[in-house]
Amino acid sequence: MKRLGIVWFRNDLRLHDNELLAWAHANNDYVNHMHCFDPRQITDKTYKCDFVKCDKYRLKFLIETIENLNTSLISNGSGLLTYRDTPENVFKQLIQQYKDKFEISIGFHQEVTQEETDVEKAIRQLARDNNVHVKEFWTTTLYHPDDLPYNNPKAFPDVFTQFRVALEKQNVRPRSLTNIPDKFKPLPDGSIVTFIPALADYGYSNVTVHSSSVFPFTGGESSALAHLHSYIWEKNLAKSYKQTRNSLTGCENSTKFSPWLANGSLSPRKICVELKKYENEQGAADAGYWIIFELLWRDFFKFTALKYGARLFYGRGLKSNPYDWKHDLQQFEAWRTGTTGVPFVDANMREFMNTGWMSNRGRQNVASFLTKDLSIDWRYGAVWFESILIDHDVCSNYGNWVYVAGIGNDPRENRHFNMIKQAFDYDSSGEFVRTWCPELARLPNEYIHTPWLAPSHILKDAAVELGVNYPRPIIVVPQWNQQSQNWRTSLQNQHHTQQRGIDFYFKKPEKRH
Ligand SMILES: Cc1cc2nc3c(=O)[nH]c(=O)nc-3n(C[C@H](O)[C@H](O)[C@H](O)COP(=O)(O)OP(=O)(O)OC[C@H]3O[C@@H](n4cnc5c(N)ncnc54)[C@H](O)[C@@H]3O)c2cc1C
Repeated sequence: MKRLGIVWFRNDLRLHDNELLAWAHANNDYVNHMHCFDPRQITDKTYKCDFVKCDKYRLKFLIETIENLNTSLISNGSGLLTYRDTPENVFKQLIQQYKDKFEISIGFHQEVTQEETDVEKAIRQLARDNNVHVKEFWTTTLYHPDDLPYNNPKAFPDVFTQFRVALEKQNVRPRSLTNIPDKFKPLPDGSIVTFIPALADYGYSNVTVHSSSVFPFTGGESSALAHLHSYIWEKNLAKSYKQTRNSLTGCENSTKFSPWLANGSLSPRKICVELKKYENEQGAADAGYWIIFELLWRDFFKFTALKYGARLFYGRGLKSNPYDWKHDLQQFEAWRTGTTGVPFVDANMREFMNTGWMSNRGRQNVASFLTKDLSIDWRYGAVWFESILIDHDVCSNYGNWVYVAGIGNDPRENRHFNMIKQAFDYDSSGEFVRTWCPELARLPNEYIHTPWLAPSHILKDAAVELGVNYPRPIIVVPQWNQQSQNWRTSLQNQHHTQQRGIDFYFKKPEKRH
């Protein structure tokens, strides 16, 4: 009997560095590639607040990614079957269709979190019931879990630095890249031509990129690789990453790799290989160090999710004691819609709602504001992020949320961002706030981040009417006004020196690899 391999594409939507693809084409006579637009991941509602799980920005990016993958497969003499259905239903049909003609194997990359692993369990069961082989792979992280110096996920450390130092000490390296198959095996006869859904099929029309978006890129492996090449080789941006990564504006500061990494159209190992090559060829030792450092954070949150399972979604996060969160829907709505009256928060939230993107600095601040200043349930914020983020990744999103909310694996207790200090440190010119809160554009720098402190004649000159065309703040933390006073004094004295705020993801390591 001839062998048929079915490649189930999940968050590994690429040809490069794809072990599953290499296995399928090396070990079968025919290969079917399939992807499911699983309604449970797209149109179903989030477990809190009832937001659609995948709103228009990420959906657009996903559709572009699938179109690109299909084109690449077609150019290799194959193609991609897509379904607007669950993998469980699709595999049932495919097994029925082919089981008398072929010896079938299903291959997939493993995921980490519960909803995804539940589907894997169902597919394994279906395969067992039908005498179908299953082959599983791991692709999402820079480091393979089997190479870590821990013999089981429960032994994984809770502190990032311990993880990083252990890798360095034991000289653990990412695995080499897997080559794209030389020759693609044909699709089996009778493969049904399927159509990739359009945004309109989900009720969205005219989803355009906002003119101020810092993420103007399209989805798909081709644009991922082009962007990677441009960032590292053409624009030499890796060299300046450490200085620019916290910028709130511009598309050439932090790498913007995350949306492609999240759906697997870009391999983290590929990034690492290119950075190392760049360092060697350009004699720029350590140029890629800090980007790889951040990719380690990504791995850290994946392995943390593997360790803690469903606890990542609990109100108390990874802690043992229950946490008394507030559920003030009016305040949450103000946060969500960028109408808190705190310009730095509002600008970030409006950028987010209009583009699907927010900088890491912005994410840390708005998450801290929601959970530490308003004491609102972190899960409300996390599900809003899940719905809107173009780069949503369950482990990075929920892992970072519990971290910032103080119920994750932050070794420092009670870390709390001062919104106004952060605003002055990272948007000292007010450019970012003026972009997203144009009603404040004419305020002078002294008051751009604290309009409630501006004298009435200044508000009048700037055409700002608090409570009318811009909200009064829903909260004022006492330290903010002092911070603002310091800022005005320093502006008057022309002595403003940029001091960085809390930068907790960016502690200098003791030793470099
Ligand atoms: C509340 C909150 C929610 C977040 N949700 C997500 C999410 O759903 N998906 C996501 O990819 N990132 C998430 N992050 C992490 C981080 O904000 C983004 O990865 C980063 O902003 C993406 O921009 P970049 O690609 O330009 O990052 P760069 O600064 O260029 O970093 C390079 C890569 O390193 C990884 N990385 C950087 N910082 C982190 C971090 N703190 N945690 C995990 N990985 C990191 C990303 O893959 C990123 O692409 C979240 C952070 C916070 C505070």
